[in-house]
Amino acid sequence: MPTPVRTRFAPSPTGYLHIGGARTALFNWLYARKHGGNFILRVEDTDEARNTEEARQAIFSSLEWLGIDWDEGHEAGGDCGPYFQSQRQDIYATWFKKLQDAGRVYEDDGAWRFRFERKPITMQDLVCGEVTIDYTDESNTPDMVVRRSDGSFVFHFVNVVDDLEMGLTHVIRGEDHLMNTPKHLQLFEAFGKVPPAYAHIPLILNADGSKMSKRDTGAAVHEYPDRGFLSDAVINFIALLGWSPKDDSEIFPLSELIERFSLEGINRSPSRFDWDKATWMNQQHLLKLPPESFAEAGLPYLQSAGMETPDNFTLMAKSVQEKVQLLSEVPEAIRFYLGEGVEFDPPALEKLSGNEAAPKLLTVLAENFRALPDWTSPKDAIATSAEAEGLKPGKLMFPLRVALSGKTGGPDLGDILSILGRDESIRRIEQTIATLQDA
Ligand code: GLU
Repeated sequence: MPTPVRTRFAPSPTGYLHIGGARTALFNWLYARKHGGNFILRVEDTDEARNTEEARQAIFSSLEWLGIDWDEGHEAGGDCGPYFQSQRQDIYATWFKKLQDAGRVYEDDGAWRFRFERKPITMQDLVCGEVTIDYTDESNTPDMVVRRSDGSFVFHFVNVVDDLEMGLTHVIRGEDHLMNTPKHLQLFEAFGKVPPAYAHIPLILNADGSKMSKRDTGAAVHEYPDRGFLSDAVINFIALLGWSPKDDSEIFPLSELIERFSLEGINRSPSRFDWDKATWMNQQHLLKLPPESFAEAGLPYLQSAGMETPDNFTLMAKSVQEKVQLLSEVPEAIRFYLGEGVEFDPPALEKLSGNEAAPKLLTVLAENFRALPDWTSPKDAIATSAEAEGLKPGKLMFPLRVALSGKTGGPDLGDILSILGRDESIRRIEQTIATLQDA
């Protein structure tokens, strides 16, 4: 039996989850899920000044929103806890003692240094390939401090102790840690333990090639829900920041990502963060939602826009499903349905005013709408009106659209007519005729 896969995400809580951190979490999670292994959340919160409870919660809630669940860690429990480094002092002391007993550490100005083996250390990174650091020359690679004079342990030491104590088989992390890894391998060797396999994933750059900073649009995961993203779309987008499937496909449901993800598919070059691509991808995921789910997902945005839920919100939402890229656009997209009468976008009204036949065509349309036996197929009246005027139905579409919605574009006219109902549709047409005549 092969050793069961164990991966982890080991964030240092700094106030929010960065898109790069989310990607590291996602790759580890996908790898564990694909191989039926365990995904561990270990919080590297040794820097007490920065690591507040709030910062920890920010990470949990962003991971939860993304749907990246952990098998061991905060609230999930597990056999290798505690899963907060701030609570693992005794464990670190025990492993430090082993180094002391083996003569691998010595005191230097109150701090403790780890004695490197003076030889080249070569690792086979699963993404970056072979990396060697030669420790032969002490002046280039001085022995590293593992315990500070205040008794606290440094990152390299606790990171290695935790990875070995927690039995990790694979460590997938940012390329910024690549050059730390030979140091970690020195420690594993000193402890007489087999290190995990390492995969260092390339940086994420802005579209212009600059390094992505905290303040760049899209950097903070917690902003995505407010901006109107579906978590599955964000997962899909993040997955493609550094991983590619072997073909051109881009839109993946989560199950397919799990199935197709592989470390071999991780790119070696940095990926570029492209906000337009993110919104496009969100749109693709929105289009795939069943209309009822789309409406449900859009509902909270109505509340944040300070709008009451209209009676036939589901129908309204369905009618704009193909029109929005972000759920936060739903309130604006349906606003024209609400209230009595129509509000014109100035360019739409201007364009309509240029059409001298418009008042006449709208009058005929209103008459034919009144004459319909019922409102099950109001679009029929467009064809009837066109025929009466000896025109193609297309000629009536634009005036009618502006009359009903005040806009040049929007949902299907049949949807608009049935949602507004006969009375409101006729009211808006008459209002438009009057506006055109006054102008
Ligand atoms: N706490 C480290 C970081 O956030 C973890 C590094 C690692 O994954 O080993 O960079």
